[in-house]
Amino acid sequence: MKCPYCTNLNTRVVDSRPGKIEYEVRRRRECQICSQRFTTFERVERAPVIIIKKDGRREEFDREKVLRGIQKACEKRAISVNLIEDMVELIEQELRESNDREISSTVVGEKIILALKKIDDVAYVRFASVYREFTDVADFIRELKELLPQECRPVEFDHLVEQVVDKVTDKADDRS
Ligand SMILES: [Zn+2]
Repeated sequence: MKCPYCTNLNTRVVDSRPGKIEYEVRRRRECQICSQRFTTFERVERAPVIIIKKDGRREEFDREKVLRGIQKACEKRAISVNLIEDMVELIEQELRESNDREISSTVVGEKIILALKKIDDVAYVRFASVYREFTDVADFIRELKELLPQECRPVEFDHLVEQVVDKVTDKADDRS
């Protein structure tokens, strides 16, 4: 393992412990030349999970991509990096544990939406609105309505929402 500070190849392992996830080892290494310490993660190589994209193309599951998508949705929210990483980890684990070797990107998207819904309403709506490509305001309003706990939603509220949705839909129809 090359030292990231001086690129010398002589480094030694000073500590080795199981990583946060299954089949992972976390190692502390020390450079024999510059004495800097750094961490490496070693993982078991597993069969790749193949994602089927909306246009039918296949690509390998890319955890970095999922991580970036979630991070973007969580921007400026009080959500720790650790929590986001755990979410990605869990999603990847679920995908690996499913017996399908090829998984639709929709399944991945819905898993992310579900996970975000549990931790932060704003991040959830941000992600869902981009991902599900809410084509109109009506979809969006319905989605928002679902976020309210039942006890905060008197019957009149549901009617009101439907009225708003109707109006918005009418307007959209007029335009087309
Ligand atoms: Zn070094």
